[in-house]
Amino acid sequence: MQPTDEIREKINVVDLVGETVRLKKAGVNFRGLCPFHSEKTPSFTVSPAKQIWHCFGCGLGGDVFEFVKQSEGVDFPEALQILAARAGVTLRRPEGGVSYTPDQKKNLYDINNWAALFYSKVLSDSQTAKPARDYLQKRGFRPETLKQWQIGYAPDGFHAFEEFIVKKGYTKQEAATAGLLVKREDGSYFDRFHERVMFSLFDMHGRVVGFTARILKDQDGVSKYVNSPETLIYSKSRLIYGLNLAKTEIRKRDEVIVVEGNVDVITCHEFGFSNVVGSSGTAFTNPQLESLKRFTENISFALDADAAGVVATRRAVELALAAGFNVKIISIPRALAKDPDELIRKDPSLWENAVKSVQSFLDFYFTRILATMDLQSATGKKQAVREILPLLSLLPDSIDRVHYSQKLAGAVSVDPKVIIELLNKAGLSKFKSAQGGSSESSQSIPRKTKQEILEARVLGLILKFPEELALDIPSLKAEDFSLPVHREIFQTIAEAYSSGRLNMENLLSEHPKLATNLNLLVFALDNEISFEGGGNLESLKQNFLGQFREALIRKSMRQLTAEIKNAETAGNPELVKTLSLEFNHLAGELSKFRN
Ligand code: ATP
Ligand code: MN
Repeated sequence: MQPTDEIREKINVVDLVGETVRLKKAGVNFRGLCPFHSEKTPSFTVSPAKQIWHCFGCGLGGDVFEFVKQSEGVDFPEALQILAARAGVTLRRPEGGVSYTPDQKKNLYDINNWAALFYSKVLSDSQTAKPARDYLQKRGFRPETLKQWQIGYAPDGFHAFEEFIVKKGYTKQEAATAGLLVKREDGSYFDRFHERVMFSLFDMHGRVVGFTARILKDQDGVSKYVNSPETLIYSKSRLIYGLNLAKTEIRKRDEVIVVEGNVDVITCHEFGFSNVVGSSGTAFTNPQLESLKRFTENISFALDADAAGVVATRRAVELALAAGFNVKIISIPRALAKDPDELIRKDPSLWENAVKSVQSFLDFYFTRILATMDLQSATGKKQAVREILPLLSLLPDSIDRVHYSQKLAGAVSVDPKVIIELLNKAGLSKFKSAQGGSSESSQSIPRKTKQEILEARVLGLILKFPEELALDIPSLKAEDFSLPVHREIFQTIAEAYSSGRLNMENLLSEHPKLATNLNLLVFALDNEISFEGGGNLESLKQNFLGQFREALIRKSMRQLTAEIKNAETAGNPELVKTLSLEFNHLAGELSKFRN
């Protein structure tokens, strides 16, 4: 048996989904609120019989693998790995290919996991950890929090962990590779961390990959935090602190809040603000932004409202804009607290207010920059323009660009045209590259497009009612479908139709690879129909095929518009005429849909 089949057999989709979604029985299926988009009435359905799930609100759906892919934001090989571990299925190295679970990595995960257990145990039980317990208690950490975030304490002395890990059966060399021991020149080893509070660093799936370790008393000349070195499983520029615990909430609220400190993340979560992650004190990098993008495109940076905070965040803001995020700023009122942790501990409602008064990044920078400059002087005006213009050029929306150009023009009292001209000269190339950079990543955003949902409905309808829709099949083409898998399925349907063997049973037995997709299409359709309270076939057909055809016509019209423009610039009046006739014909067709 293939490992994928074995996993499908061992893991029930209802159990898997049920861990994160509250499911209620609804006939033969289960229904709940979709974890992938925000909704008040449940449109998310799971079928135990077919072992698939589907949401007709956002159009997502699939089997257990697809669920892990979407909820964990991973690709198929990783989903396979996660589910294999859960089902206790061993994945063999595919012939000539790469291994799914490189042993090397596994060792590093295991050692780090042992380390987290070791440091936690020291913190809770050891006499030497008393000062650490007092420290953490004074800072307000609750016992559950220490447990959930796997916070511990590295004891003094230089060999406590070394002895522990050797007893667990690992070599010192392995523990050094995992970043927990350091090798001396003479070949002996010692613990990397001692007398520090240990904050476990988790990857997106909650595996411990390293540590950030804090001294108990701030001291000049001693680094407040020491981190694990980079290893095969820990990269500082990729890890997002708290993402493992925040990802579901980020996706639900369709927004992520980024704070600087790890402690800030923990405190936010402790007080129920659980869509918060940490940047670990540095500006967010592109890989970090890419992985966040799987969960949301709306990012808010919480920062000190002082000058240093503004400068530090500017780089992150620019990167996030270039990666296609909507960027906002939450300012921490300096007079009240220096970071979110302090603010919340003072009074959670203060943080709540700060979050509520979130500003678009441009409004924020406008206020800051304009407040610090003499806008009466020519130098001041020039400087303000110089600082704000690059940010304007990163705005993806042209209406926003014009709006803020006018605002800037007003502030420095020049003609808005001047600003827009400058922007076009200086900014356009930058904007283009920003767009280019994000196109790749935007594929990873879930939620089907309207077009894809229309396509799925039409296919579902044909599969469910092949006889009733037989006459419509020849009027459709595989190219009408934008999604490759939809194109493939339509092709398969068309072939079965012309050989007179179009029904679900035949398709399933002759195309086992497409089985999940085929089942899903019918399931999605049923799901939608039952939610609408039935509906007769004729009106379904009219609606679904109608909307699909309408969208196709609109697409052709958009293409024609572009072609007509080209023909005009090329000075080809004949072609313009032909194309225009065609356009008018389509416009006539389109008007039939509006009644
Ligand atoms: P605390 O409240 O315990 O002082 P914090 O999270 O507020 O901690 P900050 O001084 O605001 O700490 O620093 C923010 C983040 O920057 C830290 O969480 C840590 O990840 C990183 N950081 C701070 N100082 C260092 C350092 N000396 N070396 C490495 N990373 C550091
Ligand atoms: Mn702090």
